[in-house]
This record gives sequence, structure tokens and C-alpha cells, in this order.
Amino acid sequence: MSEAAASWYNTGYDGVNTEEQRLQSLSGPRRLWMPAGATKSLVLVDDEAFCIHEHNAKLNDRWDNNHTCMKNIEDPCESCTRLGDKSRFYIGYLTSIDCSAFVDKKGNKYQYEVKLVGGKLGSLKKWRRKKEDRGSLVGTMWKVTRETDKAPSIGDEWEFHKTVEDEAALFSLANYKGKKLSELWAKAEENEASMTFLAQTFQLEFDPESDGKKLVRRVPPFNYMEVFKPRGNAFIKDLLGGVTKEEALGDYNDSGGSGGSGGSSGSGSEDDVPF
Ligand SMILES: [Zn+2]
Repeated sequence: MSEAAASWYNTGYDGVNTEEQRLQSLSGPRRLWMPAGATKSLVLVDDEAFCIHEHNAKLNDRWDNNHTCMKNIEDPCESCTRLGDKSRFYIGYLTSIDCSAFVDKKGNKYQYEVKLVGGKLGSLKKWRRKKEDRGSLVGTMWKVTRETDKAPSIGDEWEFHKTVEDEAALFSLANYKGKKLSELWAKAEENEASMTFLAQTFQLEFDPESDGKKLVRRVPPFNYMEVFKPRGNAFIKDLLGGVTKEEALGDYNDSGGSGGSGGSSGSGSEDDVPF
């Protein structure tokens, strides 16, 4: 921890970027979550799952409090001690593009959003088998269905639909938290701070013929090393506050848990997808 971060105040404006990045890392990328009965069209960006032990806790009625377990890093892990093993899961993450249209409670429409898709053991085995079958899952499109609320929240039925042919078209549609990747890429090429910020979220790829200045126009995987970087027991203490174990485990039913992205989910038509 730097000296500035250990203090309770900063002078000047250096703290602005730190705070912005702290807020960004708190929320992180959206995660795929499907209500029971939903079907979605999903494109996989990568196929080597980034696997971690992760905790989740229900806080203020929300489940979006995932954080990397501190075991073997800062023993003993605050969450392991306070919440026990039931709040700790082995999860492997892939980067995906959710091609199905989605309308939130405020009426905002989302489509082609780049999201994390986190699979527990059953899903990881499924992805491993599908990768063995196909050789690679990169750029493959799937029709994913979650049959019941007992099934994983990332869907239990993964049916291969097609391989994406037009990566450029997919890139031009893709967005991250409501901002088009094409615009984020262009802004980062002009502004060093934006580039630094973007590089903390995505594994950026530079065009080798541009002296490291131009980004390749292709949807990259998330920068897992940054996104899931262990935040420390002090952070977890802050996060959990005075919550009890019973409150934090809530009505968890081991079906993927990290719900809360809520809203209705349309199935979308796969035939009118332009890539
Ligand atoms: Zn832990």
C-alpha cells in the first residue's frame, strides 16, 4: 500500500484518478445472469477459463459482492473466517458478448454487451468437453437456456449455433456498460489516461504496424489479472461491515447466486444477427 493510500487525506488532485479507478474496480464488468426459463444468444470471446476461489455475500439485498478469496495470500481470509466455506466457490471465467436484447427496469435497452460468464465445476466440465469436441470455442455463438431456478444462472443447456464470420461487425456492435467499444478504443488512442484505464479492464491488443499506438478492432478478453486482483482483508472488512453470516448467505441456493442484474430478458432472434 502506498503512503498516500494509507493516509486519510490527499492534497492536490492525484486522488481523483485513484478514486475513479477504485470505483471502477468495485463494480467491475457485468456478469451474465439469467432468470429461470430464459434463453440467450452468447458469443464466447475466449475459451481458457480464468479460475479462482471467490466469495459472494448478500449485502443490502444485492448479490453483486463477489470478491477473490484471500486464502494463501493474506491468511486467514476475512470472508472464510466470517462467512465460512459455503460462501466460497471455485469459479472459472470466460469473456462473452450477450447478443440478446435486454430492457432494464428504467426502460434502457442493452444488447451486445461484453460480460463475464462465470461457471462452477459443472459448467467448467461442459466447456472443457465442448472445447475438446470443437478444437476451439473462440468466436463461437451459443443458444443458452436456463431451464429452472435450480440450474446454474449462466444457463445449463448450451447449444452450438454458429461461428462468427464477421469479427469487425461484431466489434462495431459490442459495448461495455453502455459505451461502444469502437468509441472507447478511439478515445484511448488519443488519451493516455483513457488507455491506462481501458487496459485495466481488457487485454488490449495493439496493431504491430502502428508502433503500439493503434488498437486492433476485435473484442478482447477481460484483463482477468486486474479484474479479479485480490483486494485484501481490509477491503473485505469494509465491504462486509456488520453483516452476520446468516444475512450474508441469504437464500443462496447454489445455482450461481450472483443474481441481481434483474430485469426481463428477451430471447432475441439469432437469424438477424449481422455477423
Ligand atoms: Zn476466503
